[in-house]
Amino acid sequence: MRTDMYDKGQLLIGGKWVDSSGERFETINPATGEIIGDLALAGSSEVDAAVDAAGRAFESAEWADMMPDERGRLLWRLADLVEQNARELAEVETLDNGMPVTLNEQFVLPNVISVLRYYAGWTTKITGATSPVSVPGFAHHTLREPLGVCGLITPWNAPLMILVWKLAPALATGNTVVIKPAEQAPLSTLRLAALATRAGFPPGVINVLTGDGSTGAALVRHPGVAKISFTGSTEVGKEILRASADRLTRVSLELGGKAPSIIAADADIDAAVTGNLLGGLFNAGQICAQYARMYVHASRIDEFATKITAAVSGMGLGNGMDPATQLGPLVSAEQLERVMRYVQLGVDQGATLLTGGERATSGGLAQGFFLRPAVFTDVADSMTIAKEEIFGPVLSILSYEDEDDVVARANDTPYGLVASVWTRDIGRANRLARRLKAGAVYINSLPVQDPAAPWGGRKASGIGREMGWQAIEAYTEVKGIWTNLS
Ligand code: ADP
Repeated sequence: MRTDMYDKGQLLIGGKWVDSSGERFETINPATGEIIGDLALAGSSEVDAAVDAAGRAFESAEWADMMPDERGRLLWRLADLVEQNARELAEVETLDNGMPVTLNEQFVLPNVISVLRYYAGWTTKITGATSPVSVPGFAHHTLREPLGVCGLITPWNAPLMILVWKLAPALATGNTVVIKPAEQAPLSTLRLAALATRAGFPPGVINVLTGDGSTGAALVRHPGVAKISFTGSTEVGKEILRASADRLTRVSLELGGKAPSIIAADADIDAAVTGNLLGGLFNAGQICAQYARMYVHASRIDEFATKITAAVSGMGLGNGMDPATQLGPLVSAEQLERVMRYVQLGVDQGATLLTGGERATSGGLAQGFFLRPAVFTDVADSMTIAKEEIFGPVLSILSYEDEDDVVARANDTPYGLVASVWTRDIGRANRLARRLKAGAVYINSLPVQDPAAPWGGRKASGIGREMGWQAIEAYTEVKGIWTNLS
């Protein structure tokens, strides 16, 4: 695998790979603890330079006057390059954040490619409307125009996929971008940016600043930035919203979650076990859509708990580069410690730990950040593990008897990203789906993704939607044009 670019650890500003004038930071492989990248930490002068370069590119004839179908061709070419380099990108992602390479190859990369192609198709279909105004002698029509420089700030749990959810619609609509990947897993973003340069995007259209929260904060405050699209913690999302108030910078936020999964008395328990296992433990539970609170009808709870515990205990924990691995490490020592604190709180507050919850060190895992996945039952809504987002391989099983009661309990959370319902009764499935306060509800399914399906949360899970036509709206502003017909 090519590592030369990462070894240089440069920033991409105005079409050139440049060194930072200031500090550097390291990224490690969470499966082994090894340092795999030494990167520039962009400071405020680099943020200025990247936003200036993106601003110049936005105004440049080369980008501003580019025909929509040519923008579409560039996105399609990038999709082709990602496809040709899919194995390498999957490996880079696995080395940097630990997600099993099979998941990266089978789920992440196909999603990345289809999102790029989906928005390549949109470039020629972004229409306005003629408005039936009642002012005599006037015609009115609308245009959708790009916003300008968009700051894309991404997390470490699925860096490439979440980046492309922002990048593809931002470029399809004619914006330019400054990307700030998470400090824990920035390598795949650098590789994607190199491929975008090869695809032919003009210099300055895509800029990348590696760095930490201070880099992100400087980007948010920069007066040249028209919009910030952020995926990460609710706490940082709130900070970004506050910082955006002075200049009314447009903001989209995709934040935390604590998804309920309701398993009704008539559910197919074997299907519910499989779906909740994946919904709960995909990427070792480090996804905001994790099925974290499994509300199981009292009449089926023992069967569900026994079967999911057996399935969890049998999962292959290991280095994500091994194709047999089903569960990789947590992303960092800090994250491991944080999740283990939650496991202890679960035990201390009286939940029953059915399996897991301890660090795995045997079989060559000692240097990595591995946790045996934990399943708790007898969980009460008041317990910390049922209330706070853990972002790790910890599943909580809660008992319910009454439908009204379980809806109220499922909705009694600050979050509202996704929810899930398991039942064979189509009426109940749709009744519950309508009553659950979430951006997406999955009926008898794990949380699947598609570029045509809007994605985002209610309440503290965020503001705005990604994917679908909704993302085209999120990266454009409507202009009304009045024509005096006389
Ligand atoms: P997590 O807690 O999962 O690491 P964060 O919300 O801290 O998630 O980080 C998500 C992204 O936001 C990362 O790229 C991080 O560097 C960036 N970030 C952290 N703090 C700030 C901030 N104050 N302003 C802007 N970006 C930030």
